[in-house]
Amino acid sequence: MILKDKVAIVTGAGRGIGRGIAVMLAREGAKVVVSDLNYDDCLSVVAELEKQGSQALAVQCDVSQRETVDKLIAETTAKFGTLDILVNNAGVYPFKPFLEMSESEWDKVIDVNLKSIFFTAQAAAKVMPAGGKIVNISSIAAFVGFSGLAHYCASKGGMNGMTRALALELADKKINVNNVAPGAIETPGATGAMTTELKKQTEAMIPWGRMGQPEDIAAAVAFLASSGADYITGQTLVVDGGYILR
Ligand code: NAP
Repeated sequence: MILKDKVAIVTGAGRGIGRGIAVMLAREGAKVVVSDLNYDDCLSVVAELEKQGSQALAVQCDVSQRETVDKLIAETTAKFGTLDILVNNAGVYPFKPFLEMSESEWDKVIDVNLKSIFFTAQAAAKVMPAGGKIVNISSIAAFVGFSGLAHYCASKGGMNGMTRALALELADKKINVNNVAPGAIETPGATGAMTTELKKQTEAMIPWGRMGQPEDIAAAVAFLASSGADYITGQTLVVDGGYILR
C-alpha cells in the first residue's frame, strides 16, 4: 500500500472521478475525507470505504466558499490530526455558447474550478508542516479548445498556470503540486446525458478506443500522491487514451 496512514482530502468525492479517487486512495492505505456539496453522497462513499476496512470522514463543503473550505480543513485535522494529501477534484462544466454566456455563468465556473484552489491549497498548505501533496484535476480542455466551454477551458488553463506557481512557492515546504488532466471519462456529469450515438462518436476520437473510467484517473492521482513522486512538481500528467495526440 503506497499511501499507508496518510490523511487525504478529496473534493467533489460524492460521485464520478472524485468517488473513484477516494476509493483508490483508501485502498492504498489512506484515511480519506470525502467532501462534496451533497452530504448524502459523502455519507454513501464513506460507508463504502468503511466496508472495505478504511477510516473515512464525510464533510459537506462548497469549494467556492472560503468558510466551508476552512471548516473542511479544520474538521480533517480535528479528526485525523494532520493532512498529507489534498485532491482538488470538484468541478463543473456546463455547456453554453460563448455569445449567450452571462457574467454569472462565467463566474460560477471560474469560482468552482479555479478560485476554489486558491482557498483549498492556501488553507491546506498551512497545516502541512511536514510536507505534502496537492493534486489538481485539470482537463485536456487546458490544451485544446471545446466549443461551448470557454469558461471551462479558461479555468483549467488557469489551473495549470497556478500549479506551476504554487509548485515553486511551496517547494521549500516540501509540498508537491501537480495536475492530472483527464480526457473523456465516464461519469454521471459527463456521460449521464450522452446518447449511445454521441458516446460512439467520442470513442471513435480516442486512439485507445474507449472512454476512460474514474479508476484510470485515480491511479495517476495515487501515484502523484505517493512518495514515488517526491521529485515531481509543477507538472501535468495527461490521462486521455491518446485523445489530444491527433
Ligand atoms: P461529476 O460527475 O459532475 O462529479 C462532480 C462532483 O463535484 C459532484 O459530486 C458535484 O456535486 C461536486 N461539486 C460540484 N460543484 C461543487 C462545489 N462547488 N463544491 C464541492 N463539490 C462540488 O464530474 P466528473 O466528471 O467526475 O468531474 C470531476 C472533475 O474531473 C472535474 O474537475 C472535471 O472538470 C474533471 N474532468 C472530468 C472529465 C470527464 O470527462 N468526466 C474530463 C476532464 C476533466 P453535486 O453532485 O452535488 O453537484
